[in-house]
Amino acid sequence: MISSLLNTIKFKKKVLLIQLRTKKKLIQVFKIFSLIVLFHDSNSLIGQYEYLHPYIPYDSCNFDSHPIIEIKLWIHILQKDKKNPENLTSDSLKFINQQYKWINNFYKNIKPPTLKIKNQLHYVKDSRIRFLVDTVTYHINENGWDRIKYIKETNSQRWMKILAINPDSGIIEIEGVRDRFALIQDSILIENSLLNNGVYKVANLSRKKGNTILTLINGSALKKDTSGYVSYYKKIDKNCHKDNWINFTNENKDFLHVFYTGSSVSVPAFGCGPSPFFLNISSVLENGAFATAQLTAHEIGHCLGLRHTNTPQFSDLPLTDQFGWLKCNNSTVSNNIMGYNKCRNYLSPLQIAYIHYRYSSNNDLYNTLTNKENKDITIITTPSVWEKNVIGKKRILIKKNQSLTVKKHLIIPNNGIIILEKNSQLIIDNGKVYAPNENWKGIRTKRSILNFFKKFFSSNNEDQIFLKDDGVVIY
Ligand SMILES: [Zn+2]
Repeated sequence: MISSLLNTIKFKKKVLLIQLRTKKKLIQVFKIFSLIVLFHDSNSLIGQYEYLHPYIPYDSCNFDSHPIIEIKLWIHILQKDKKNPENLTSDSLKFINQQYKWINNFYKNIKPPTLKIKNQLHYVKDSRIRFLVDTVTYHINENGWDRIKYIKETNSQRWMKILAINPDSGIIEIEGVRDRFALIQDSILIENSLLNNGVYKVANLSRKKGNTILTLINGSALKKDTSGYVSYYKKIDKNCHKDNWINFTNENKDFLHVFYTGSSVSVPAFGCGPSPFFLNISSVLENGAFATAQLTAHEIGHCLGLRHTNTPQFSDLPLTDQFGWLKCNNSTVSNNIMGYNKCRNYLSPLQIAYIHYRYSSNNDLYNTLTNKENKDITIITTPSVWEKNVIGKKRILIKKNQSLTVKKHLIIPNNGIIILEKNSQLIIDNGKVYAPNENWKGIRTKRSILNFFKKFFSSNNEDQIFLKDDGVVIY
């Protein structure tokens, strides 16, 4: 059956090659091909994310194998200058604390989805994701503060030659077709003192044969002349840039750095979360405090690995989600934190699972968590099997006659230890037990716990630890 299928595929390939000879046929082939691809995709869409299912923290899931992850934040406030900070100040700590109280609440109290999908997974009430404001620092730095600005184009090669000026109608004709030249849509600068240098607002751009007509709002101040050049202000948008992360933290990866910045162009609050190690939030003073928290929760979502919901990242998201800072509803606009809606209080089970999966699979990300300094204990009182990566607690105690089977990664925090009581077992079945910072105390039997010099895998415990297949303990 399989070989005949293969033959059919080979045969079809041949047919395809023959068909490719004519353009019309090519389009037909493409249509058939995309149909096959579509069919294939919809079939595999659910299976594609099966690996995330063990990471969904349903209410019934144990906190030992599904712990809360807490991300350490370092807040940086960039002020324009000392006199006019145009941003938060040292008096804003209350504002900051309130922000993260709200943001933690969004992630803790997930609301049901407004847009339902077929085969909806049961929704998760608590994402088990939290944020801790660890440090707040202030920087006075206008360049770091200014995320969106206009600067004059000084490269004269890019200036535009003036062909004619009509002050009465406020019109300038410039050489070449520049109507698609987005940079001059806002304002221009005349580079010829005879013509009254200055900044002029462009009201309209149009084409005239091979040239461009600019209609200016304040063009009547111009002189009638036909020489000189028009320069313009180009927009510099550093919303997503990493310059502040480089300049103020030296690309530090121990925190998620939140930069509160500003903009010399007056726009409503905006932000960008391009990295798990930093995000920018700008112009918060021109925004409502609660809306700023919603915006920040969204940008943090990007830092955690989530994408916008207008095209679904996972199989448990609706196929479309209308964007535009709209009220959420039950037909077109979701209430997803990663959408552009006014609710922003839902995350899907797979969105949440993906975050847990990422932070338990990547040592760099694990390093931003307070979990690496965990002081708690997990007590294994029934035979337990961990089939996913688990971010462990400081001490794992396997009680007498009990067993813990590790099938993926078990991540041990700083100075962590695994303690085996009499006749208990640790079975590492194709899994890996390790500490990303390589500073843990290893596995001890309870009998030897006080003896710090006793070697790991001593004769005391070797009959209690089982390595199966590629199972490994890194110590
Ligand atoms: Zn976004």
